Amino acid sequence: MNTYSIYGYCPICGAEGDTRERRPNGNDTCKNGHTYPTSDRLSTLNGLTTLETICMMHEQMKLLSQRLDELSEQGTAKIEELMQENERLRKLLDDRA
Ligand SMILES: [Zn+2]
Repeated sequence: MNTYSIYGYCPICGAEGDTRERRPNGNDTCKNGHTYPTSDRLSTLNGLTTLETICMMHEQMKLLSQRLDELSEQGTAKIEELMQENERLRKLLDDRA
């Protein structure tokens, strides 16, 4: 699926689109005879199908979200540390009062 097809690729079998109806919201037909709305076709992006690209982005989003969780845990721990320090200082001041 690394060759460029002007009609994109069949979302059912991945074969190249063969024909396209010349009307708005028309259908494409792939080389294996599947018919599907033109808007459902898989286009290529750097040799990847749109579906593959979306899967890849999804994986990256998952990694980013895990990283965010880690960072927010670190942030929460830091805040708790600062609050304890704050409390300790306030006790020191109370003791002096
Ligand atoms: Zn097909």
